[in-house]
Amino acid sequence: MTGRTLSGNSYYGKYSEELIATANYIATPGKGILAADESTGTIGKRLSSINVENVEVNRRSLRELLFTTPGALQYLSGVIFFEETLYQSTASGKPFVEVLQEAGVVPGIKVDKGTVDLAATNGETTTQGLDGLAQRCQQYYKAGARFAKWRAVLKIGPTEPSELSIEQNAQGLARYAIICQENGLVPIVEPEILTDGSHDIHKCAAVTENVVAAVYKALNDHHVLLEGTLLKPNMVSPGTDGPKVPPEEIAEHTVRALQRTVPAAVPGIVFLSGGQSEEEATLNLNAINACKTKKPWTLSFSFGRALQQSTLKTWAGKAENLGAAQKAFLARCKANSEATLGKYAGGAGAGLATESLHVKDYKY
Ligand code: 13P
Repeated sequence: MTGRTLSGNSYYGKYSEELIATANYIATPGKGILAADESTGTIGKRLSSINVENVEVNRRSLRELLFTTPGALQYLSGVIFFEETLYQSTASGKPFVEVLQEAGVVPGIKVDKGTVDLAATNGETTTQGLDGLAQRCQQYYKAGARFAKWRAVLKIGPTEPSELSIEQNAQGLARYAIICQENGLVPIVEPEILTDGSHDIHKCAAVTENVVAAVYKALNDHHVLLEGTLLKPNMVSPGTDGPKVPPEEIAEHTVRALQRTVPAAVPGIVFLSGGQSEEEATLNLNAINACKTKKPWTLSFSFGRALQQSTLKTWAGKAENLGAAQKAFLARCKANSEATLGKYAGGAGAGLATESLHVKDYKY
């Protein structure tokens, strides 16, 4: 399809059919996304936790470990790269993009430029990166990327999230999404509500509904083609210092909040892990898929920390640990794949997999 044929409110550009096909493919049940798009600063924190220097060769080695884990890519439909990684290759010279493509995994790219404070708010933020975004999307498309990520961050407090923050972040996500679509990339729309706080699950449910509803109003206003997008939300859960609840309760509140706010035109919802332990994130995803109610979208994962933590710890930057680290990564990919089908029995990777990964005011 070429030109501008408007159908309903959505923008149909030259990429519309490709966008729909890509989004549907990424949303294949049984598969999910590895978020390996930590910025150079963030990956530095990960590497320093295992006493590894934050230099290009080490960042590349860690990414190669993940992407070349035998058997892991069958459980993934997408991997999100940071810009540097999009242009890197394995030690033997094979571009990472090709490693993924050969395994049927779609390369994606983080396109936001991080957050800045909204003036005169209690530490609320908006996300930057719209300047020059169209040109960057064109370059990333040429390099093989077919989807993108933009992370908006909201927090729960006595008066947060403010109207200003909800509105600014929804507008930013919508503007990002349509620019991606005009340039052939499926936008992952990510309004992350942080878990910091002592609120209960009901508070998180109410805020998630408000935020996600505002996001879809903005996407509609900006003529975004919903069939060619994915949503990456937080699971609905109590605050980190709030009363704990079992996975079934998280599942029930999460699915209900999404039923109320996410149009059925959206093919897939891929959750972030947001500081949950690896095992917690998988059990919650499993409960979400096991819960018997209306679910018009695929419900899967786009985990960063909850796919990589035990792998990182097991590797510790040492060549002799490579095999064991890859086994840990494979176990997490398989467990999460099963969880997308509601068939995870629990227990993949003891010890390390149950460590909390929560970091206050986390910056990705
Ligand atoms: P976590 O799963 O570590 O929360 O991160 C996923 C992500 O890509 C956040 O933007």
